[in-house]
Amino acid sequence: MDSQSESQYLMHVVERPRPVMVRGEGSYLWDESGRKYLDFVQGWAVNALGHAPREVSRALARQAELLLTPSPAYHNAPQLELARRLCESSGLARATFCSSGAEAIETAIKICRKWGARHRSGAYEIITTLNAFHGRTLAAMAASGKPGWDTLFPPNPPGFRKVEYANLAQMREAITESTAAILVEPVQGEAGAIAPSVDYLIGLRKLADVHGLLLVFDEVQTGMGRTGSLFAFQQAGVLPDVVTLGKGLGSGVPLSAVLVNERANVIVPGDHGGTFNGNPLLAAVGCSVLDVVSKPAFLQWVRLRAHQLQHGLVRLASKHHGTVRGQGLLQALVLDTSNAEKIRDDCFERNLLLNAARPNVLRFMPQLRVSAEEIDRMLELLDESLCAQRETSACSSSVTQTTTVA
Ligand code: PLP
Repeated sequence: MDSQSESQYLMHVVERPRPVMVRGEGSYLWDESGRKYLDFVQGWAVNALGHAPREVSRALARQAELLLTPSPAYHNAPQLELARRLCESSGLARATFCSSGAEAIETAIKICRKWGARHRSGAYEIITTLNAFHGRTLAAMAASGKPGWDTLFPPNPPGFRKVEYANLAQMREAITESTAAILVEPVQGEAGAIAPSVDYLIGLRKLADVHGLLLVFDEVQTGMGRTGSLFAFQQAGVLPDVVTLGKGLGSGVPLSAVLVNERANVIVPGDHGGTFNGNPLLAAVGCSVLDVVSKPAFLQWVRLRAHQLQHGLVRLASKHHGTVRGQGLLQALVLDTSNAEKIRDDCFERNLLLNAARPNVLRFMPQLRVSAEEIDRMLELLDESLCAQRETSACSSSVTQTTTVA
């Protein structure tokens, strides 16, 4: 298939390289010419279990034989089970399901507004953070703090106020009588893996408590083991009132969720819904993903590999004048020049898939079962690419050879 001529039928929503991907397995993707790529993008942190995981294909096949969708008007067993298991493992009380991270955020926004109307004298404003990413529906874009988004599709839905990320003082000052909630990513993902101190998340919980607000954590990218615990908030020892999940929850199929505590359980029939919400096909996948990612040994593996990845990147950073940030298997290399896209494209030629999150930031989101050898290989290829960019002979040492952690 010639992607160049066929793609004239696609809207131009994103720049794509020419090859057409046809198959995936674990950490690898193949294009139709048989070329094999080491994938550290993994569907933008979606494929927690890698490409085409057996657990997901089995759950899909089993459930497809039984029941695809009875309609949201009736209970189905996988949805009930997934809701119970997510509530039990998070410490929250109720769940509802949808198909994308942005939809989960829309749902959370509705919850905050309804809660504000009921419990805070009509307060509706939600404080979010600069450079945050919450999705691409109109309200999710308005909640996001991505530079330039405020002027893309005017008029913007009102009701969002932005403060600096990881700045508690600014958050405190922004709270008014109109504030209903605080909405924050526990680690800013799309901004390039910016992990705040645990004190920030603890401080947000305190602020929400003192001022009587809802605290919403957007764990669409950080949830389901990505940061080394099932949910990132567990590492700070705080419990939000509302959590959004997506990406890894379906590990390749479109499944997202919103979890709430009893305080934020304000949705009643008529407020919310969707044709495909909570359908058993996708909920069955969610259950099979949870079976894997909630195991202590699995999360220990994520932490070990994260340690290896971070240390390997730190070595590269010291060689190439960069810095490293992130949490778990969500890491970023901040370069001293704005050539992240050039390096991404050069790595593509070396059969390595990376994401350029910002002009000077490369983001690493491998599958959570990535092997030590795959991390070493990625570091090796990246080192070669960074050396080629710098065109310096001093760049030939084997900086990645000692990175393997047993
Ligand atoms: N929230 C966060 C933190 C995300 O990283 C993303 C996507 O990258 C979203 C929401 C939106 O998810 P989706 O693209 O599934 O709508």
